[in-house]
Order: sequence, then structure tokens, then C-alpha cells
Amino acid sequence: MTVRESEVLDVERIREDFPVLEREFDGTPLVYLDNAATTQTPTQVIDAIRDYYLEYNANVHRGLHQLSQEASIAYEQAHDRVAEFIGAAGREEIVFTKNTTESENLVAYAWGLRELGPGDTVVLTEMEHHASLVTWQQIGERTGADVEYIRIDEDGHLDMDHAREVIDDDTAMLSALHVSNTLGTINPVADLVDLAHDHDALAFIDGAQAVPNRPVDVEAIDADFYAFSGHKMAGPTGIGVLYGKQHLLDSMEPFLYGGDMIEKVTFEGSRWNELPWKFEAGTPPIAQGIALAEACDYLEDIGMDRVARHENELAQYTLERFAEFDDIEVFGPPAGEERGGLVSFNLESVHAHDLSSIFNDYAVAIRAGDHCTQPLHDKLGVAATARASFYVYNTREEIDVLVEAIDDARDLFA
Ligand code: PLP
Repeated sequence: MTVRESEVLDVERIREDFPVLEREFDGTPLVYLDNAATTQTPTQVIDAIRDYYLEYNANVHRGLHQLSQEASIAYEQAHDRVAEFIGAAGREEIVFTKNTTESENLVAYAWGLRELGPGDTVVLTEMEHHASLVTWQQIGERTGADVEYIRIDEDGHLDMDHAREVIDDDTAMLSALHVSNTLGTINPVADLVDLAHDHDALAFIDGAQAVPNRPVDVEAIDADFYAFSGHKMAGPTGIGVLYGKQHLLDSMEPFLYGGDMIEKVTFEGSRWNELPWKFEAGTPPIAQGIALAEACDYLEDIGMDRVARHENELAQYTLERFAEFDDIEVFGPPAGEERGGLVSFNLESVHAHDLSSIFNDYAVAIRAGDHCTQPLHDKLGVAATARASFYVYNTREEIDVLVEAIDDARDLFA
């Protein structure tokens, strides 16, 4: 197999869609391995944004003029496209937000502030991203609800026995990651949702690291809420998605108030718009929404099953290469077990931040830090980790460059 080949994807072809990957720094080609933070954007998605601004830029839902009608139709259809992409029933269940974080906050404020009180618990996992962890902690403080955490084991799996203990009749909400952005663990979310439902609790799944990388069917998971971000799935920044079961979104009060989210306003009060617009106050992310739909098309053309296999293949190759060295500590599930397309690690003699700045000399972009999972890092007993994360355009050759850079960092600090 040549370096640019993958067992599942025509990576050489795919790379042509991402002009940024041709960048070089001092003659060294960019190796972009920071995809769990933000993925690159293909020309098809950039063209969708360009077309909107060149051809039919206008506010939605407001004007009767042709441009506004075209923008409204495209924006509304983008909700249908996203619904289809994740197996939702229709646009009523798809709210466009700014990002996963806003989707979490929407539910925490609109549902949590009203529904939670002393005696209730919100159950999270120890591997939660700050987007849910900090949010539910704050809502817990304001409502008197307790926050509890499902433990993880040494290999970065959820302890499902512990899950069965902490999810009980006091549980009002379970909020769990689908795929861990630090460990790469793929959590058994359908089982967690079942557990929550057994106790009449709701379940929110953070799919920020799942929707970009694998087929996701929210109805099969039976999640009550499911969130993800456009910029991690070949889409633009400034757009995220909150999926919610229609009857729940219907029963909830709005999160933000203002224009567009109302049906009727008088000096005495207001009546809310129909779903999903009730949760999209003010001018929404129009170009971003339309471009997100294009990103769904782009990924579906590749095939989400193949995306998942490609990323797992790169992760396994990374684990294989890292296993050649005694001084690389890897976090998360062991080699051989399917994982999301990322590997977090530490080199014994070099701090993760130093590693990441040395890598910059090799034009290798990775992330170093706590990846917005500080409590998880505390549990792992490290302040920071380095994280290499992959997408459809990454190759084994790039992982070899990463390993070379690690070699040189080792020598430099010896
Ligand atoms: N949840 C997970 C698992 C993530 O990896 C991230 C981003 O890294 C987020 C939530 C937050 O995403 P955003 O910054 O787009 O709101």
C-alpha cells in the first residue's frame, strides 16, 4: 500500500477538495492533525457560502421579495437535509444554534432551569467536555439539583455498573458524550439512553465528535436531545445543531427571545412561533446553515461508514507506531478496539505544550492542553496531553511525519 492509499477512501482525490492542505511553511507541507478541534472545509462547502452571498443574500422569513424567498427556502431546506443526515423525523426537530456549546446551554436553560430542583440529579460522565460539565454544574447551583458522574475505568471506558448505580429515580437528566474528544472512546449511548428512560429521565447526547465521523441515527439511539457542531464536520464555523424530540421542544419555553421566534406580539404578551423557529431568535446563521447542508451532502457522498473506517484505521496505525516507543503514554481504549479518529498521548521527557510547538517546526498541527476536559485530566493524573486527530484527508504518511517529529523532540530534550 502506498502512503496516500487508504483501505477505504480515495484520499488523494479527497485532498483535491481541500486547497488549504497544499499550504507549506518554509517549504514544509502542512500536516493538519487538529481535526477534533476544527476540520478543514472543502471547496464544495465554500462554494455554497459564496453562491449564497453572490446570488441570493437576504434575510429569511421576512421579505416577500425574490431574494428573501430564495434564501428562506434554502435555509429551511437545510434543516430538512440535516434532519435526514442524522435520522430525525423532520425540520421541526432541528434547531440551528451557534455550536454544540450553545445547544447544551439551550437545553440547560430552557428545560433545566424550569424543571430541575432540590432532590433531582443530573448525571454526567467523567469524560464530559466542559460544554456540558460547566453548564450543568451552573444549572445545578441555580436549581439545587445535584450533579453526579459515571466513573471511567483504566482503559477509558464508562463503568456501566456504576452507571446503573448513579442513574436512579432521582435522575432527571443524563448528559453523555457519544465519542470522547480526549480518549476517543465510543460510548454505548443507546444503552445509556435506555437506562435514563428506565428511570423516566431525559437523555442528552453530545455528538460533537460522533456526527462528523460515523453514521448517527438519533431515532435508533432514542436520544431526547442530540448536539453537534458544523465546524467539526467539514462545515463552516458559527453553526451548531440541537436535535430534540418534537414533543419535548414543543413543551419547552424558548431560550432566547426576540424577532422571528414569535408568531404574535401585543403590548400584553407574545405567542411563540412554530418549531424549530421558536428556538431561533433573531437573524439566524443563514449562509452557515446552507453550507452545513452542503457538508452533509459532501460527507454522505463519501459514505459515513467509510469515514468511520478510515479514521479508525488511522487511529490504529498511530497506536501501532506509538507502540514502538517505551516513552509514549497513550490514553483511551487499547489498540485493536474501534475508536474515534483521535489519539491523545504524552512523551515522557517533553511537556505536551513543548511538543506541540516543536511540531510547528515540522508544520504538524496538533493540539496540546486539556481539550476542555480538565476534570478528566485530573483523573488521568496529567495536566495536559497532546492530541492528534484525523479526518477524511489524512494519510499514514502524515502520521509517519508526526512520529519523526516526536523522535526529534525526544533528541532535543535528551
Ligand atoms: N463536545 C465535544 C465532545 C467537543 O469535542 C467539543 C469541541 O471540542 C464541544 C463539545 C464543543 O464544541 P463547540 O466549541 O463547537 O461548541
